[in-house]
Amino acid sequence: MRLSPRNVRSRLTLWYVGVLAALLIAYGAGCLFFLFLSMREQLDHNLLEDVETVEGEIAAEPDGSVTLRLHHGEEGDPGFHRFVEIWSPEGTLLYRTPQLRGQELGTPPAPGEGAQEAEPVSERLRNGLRVRLARSIHRVKGRTVILRVAHNEGTMWRELREFATVLVIGLPIAALLAGFGGYVLARKALAPIDAMTRETQKISAEDLGARLSIRNPEDELGRLAAVQNAMLGRLQEAFEQLRRFTADASHELRTPLTAIRSVGEVALQDPKSSVEYRDVIGSMLEEVDRLTRLVESLLVLSRADASHIQLHRTELSLLSVAEEAAVMLEVLAEEKRQKIEVDGDRNLVVSADRLILRQAIVNLLDNAIKYSPAESRILIRVDQGADKRAFLDVIDQGPGIPTEHQPYVFDRFYRVDKARTREWGGAGLGLSITRWAVEAHGGEVTLKSEEGHGSTFRISLPV
Ligand code: ADP
Repeated sequence: MRLSPRNVRSRLTLWYVGVLAALLIAYGAGCLFFLFLSMREQLDHNLLEDVETVEGEIAAEPDGSVTLRLHHGEEGDPGFHRFVEIWSPEGTLLYRTPQLRGQELGTPPAPGEGAQEAEPVSERLRNGLRVRLARSIHRVKGRTVILRVAHNEGTMWRELREFATVLVIGLPIAALLAGFGGYVLARKALAPIDAMTRETQKISAEDLGARLSIRNPEDELGRLAAVQNAMLGRLQEAFEQLRRFTADASHELRTPLTAIRSVGEVALQDPKSSVEYRDVIGSMLEEVDRLTRLVESLLVLSRADASHIQLHRTELSLLSVAEEAAVMLEVLAEEKRQKIEVDGDRNLVVSADRLILRQAIVNLLDNAIKYSPAESRILIRVDQGADKRAFLDVIDQGPGIPTEHQPYVFDRFYRVDKARTREWGGAGLGLSITRWAVEAHGGEVTLKSEEGHGSTFRISLPV
């Protein structure tokens, strides 16, 4: 059996009823106890007053016995609950009220009983009657007697019982009513959550633009809805990005595949010489190269997105990594009779993954070679910057990048001039890989360029 109910509403109600019942029980018990104390105080007060009255009623008879001179009607009144015993100091019973029917008010007196002012005590008679008993020593006509007066406690106990009965009957009723009220309140308080659940259920991957409605942005539920909406916003963004990435990637893959196919189909139309076939195969291989590079870039980016790439950091001289990149691309530069110069502080050391950092520099250098005119100069400069950062600038004398395109060149698949750059083989992924690689090292890459005056890409890394 499940002890805790499934929904919060019932759990809240149960808790509420439980806590309330415990409080009511404690309160009722407290009330009962204080009522008992105050009733007993009243009883004692009456009893002690009565002791004085009885003292005035004691009379010594000429034959030496002692009796009570009762006021009229007292003794015969069945509702009169006063019991009296008079003892001699030696322990002989001198008088006992007839209502006691021979029962003792406790044992015969001990020596010195009633000598001091003693507090009244509770006793139980042989017939089960509970009484409150007071003792005193009294002198009557030169004789000392011990007086015991008792009052019936029955009325007090009956009233206490009645009060307790009212409490015992009233408490479950109060708890039940409170439970009902609590349930209604909890339902009202939780209704917005139910509404939110229904709204959230309706939102699917196809419909990430939907948002939860916010009734009061200041309260807890409003804040929860706002946080969920913000999360939905981020999810939507990520989904959009993924969708764009897949669409762009398929598009980029289709272009070289179409080229290979059409070159092949044309070649198959009529017989050709072996030189012509070699040409066809050559251009097909070029497209395959392009495809391979593209697929490799896509792989790097998708692994980077999934955070699957682990950096193997070592202490590296930034200048030596730049030199390695320059050596790798020397052949390309030579084809365009360009000159690459590397210069800077050899002792500038960064903690980085050699291959990944080199790839970042290679991409910048590759762009500089691709987009700069023949016989231009490309400069790689390594320098120490302010607040413990190292800079690596790739400066070219190319056409520069128009200001309106500058914010986007690091985006995936972004090309300034799509038609023209396709000839040199870029898919618009080089700079986004560079940006990922540099940011993975805690650095950033920035661009300074003016149309017609070359571009400077700057990688800045923590030293
Ligand atoms: P791609 O593979 O097309 O070169 P990149 O992400 O490396 O893609 O670059 C994005 C675009 O930024 C390029 O298409 C090009 O238009 C522009 N670009 C990048 N580097 C330079 C540069 N050094 N000079 C001029 N334009 C550049």
